[in-house]
Amino acid sequence: MSQPRAKIAIIGGGPGGYEAALVAAQLGAEVTVVERDGLGGACVLTDCVPSKTLIATSGMMAGLEEASVLGIRINSDGNEADLLDAPRLYARVRALARAQSADVASRLSAEGVKVIAGPGRLIGPRLVATGDIEIEADAVLVATGAEPRVLAGAEPDGERILTWRQLYDLDELPEQLIVVGSGVTGAEFASAYQALGSQVTLISSRDRVLPHEDADAAMVVEEVFRRRGMTVLGHSRAELVTRTSTGVIVTLLDGRTVAGTHCLLTVGMVPNTRGLGLAEAGIMVDDHGFVQVDKVSRTSAPGVYAAGDCTGVLMLASVAAMQGRIAMWHALGEAVKPLRLSHVAATIFTEPEIAKVGVPEQAVASGQIADAIVVKLPLATNARAKMQGFRDGFVKLIAQRSSGTVLGGVIVAPRASELILAVSLAVERLLTVDHLAQTFSVYPSLSGSVTEAARRLMQPVERADG
Ligand SMILES: Cc1cc2nc3c(=O)[nH]c(=O)nc-3n(C[C@H](O)[C@H](O)[C@H](O)COP(=O)(O)OP(=O)(O)OC[C@H]3O[C@@H](n4cnc5c(N)ncnc54)[C@H](O)[C@@H]3O)c2cc1C
Repeated sequence: MSQPRAKIAIIGGGPGGYEAALVAAQLGAEVTVVERDGLGGACVLTDCVPSKTLIATSGMMAGLEEASVLGIRINSDGNEADLLDAPRLYARVRALARAQSADVASRLSAEGVKVIAGPGRLIGPRLVATGDIEIEADAVLVATGAEPRVLAGAEPDGERILTWRQLYDLDELPEQLIVVGSGVTGAEFASAYQALGSQVTLISSRDRVLPHEDADAAMVVEEVFRRRGMTVLGHSRAELVTRTSTGVIVTLLDGRTVAGTHCLLTVGMVPNTRGLGLAEAGIMVDDHGFVQVDKVSRTSAPGVYAAGDCTGVLMLASVAAMQGRIAMWHALGEAVKPLRLSHVAATIFTEPEIAKVGVPEQAVASGQIADAIVVKLPLATNARAKMQGFRDGFVKLIAQRSSGTVLGGVIVAPRASELILAVSLAVERLLTVDHLAQTFSVYPSLSGSVTEAARRLMQPVERADG
């Protein structure tokens, strides 16, 4: 006699939710996803996918800035905004997001996942409700994501004072864009709009942009920002954003003001966990409302799992998806490896990009990781970089001194997101600098700097062995 199919209910159809649904369906479960706004979630509809589509265009514009160096004459008066068709760009961004969402919908439908449109909530530990429908499940996954944090005194109006989710409804390129917040989202949009032709002012409350990232990498990016004409205001906290007849005024905590045509707020995220019935179901959240989970995505309520931005573990689509998959493997009795954040590869899509994986150099500097060696190889000496006309960036590798095992790396380069895989693979598979150094890279290529950096680390390892 065959066993009855396990029933899974998922609230939220972003990467945390839909990737979980695919795994659960593959394992033979009867899966229902309740999604309020659209499949693919904020990731596909408003955040990751639209921003990277915008950056595909801004990256090309940034490349054009170097065109004359490469012997290309562009018929423009040097003003990038002339080259840009903003309505078309935004239409492309919106269309691509819709198409990606439709792809997710077809994939789920092909796997037999039932999707119900509407807001869902828990009305019992394993009971989800949406409208008058009740879904009883053996396991529930909460994957409701997060939304932009709003500053009191800087409420977005969707016209001049904006969150990144409202950018793509504009019908023009902001002439003077003030970006509040210099974390990953702020830096990415500041970089993109600068390249697209806006005059950008970046307001950072810290001493540098990207305060949580590798300091050398952040310095390169900030230097490029300034060189390209961006105004970067460090140690500046925005307190108030007000509308004027022609734009916006941002008032800083110390009384200074910054004027522009538009203001983009990138000051963090708050989890979508209110009104979900979590407390009633015995699910613990932290002081900021993020669902507390362990490394296999379990919440404090038996049978209820949570994944993605609503847990605040690491706000990346790849992490959300992995948390969701792990939840389903665990719930459905499969062998499962706990989430390992130290192996997550991530990229900041500025121009140039910053890609990173594994142990950060700061952990070595602070003594948290002992017995480590670090090498930083500037890309300026790389033949391919010279041919392509760029000089900003580097490859940094971190390895264990005694064994040579690669612990981490940072790459700052155009398309660093594509280059980091070799280092990521080394970290995941515990490869040594010798393994990397003895691997063929193409000549000329930027990845040649990864193998070269590994070669630079071989000497001390040999000495340590000897
Ligand atoms: C500007 C920006 C750029 C980013 N770029 C990248 C990137 O390049 N790479 C990367 O890895 N990550 C990126 N991220 C992060 C990434 O978008 C998130 O980590 C990812 O979206 C998290 O997935 P999720 O499934 O947890 O949430 P979401 O994608 O937010 O999906 C949650 C879904 O739940 C739904 N929902 C909420 N409440 C309910 C309810 N009560 N009932 C039913 N449905 C509900 C929402 O409508 C939403 O569709 C970016 C984020 C931002 C802000």
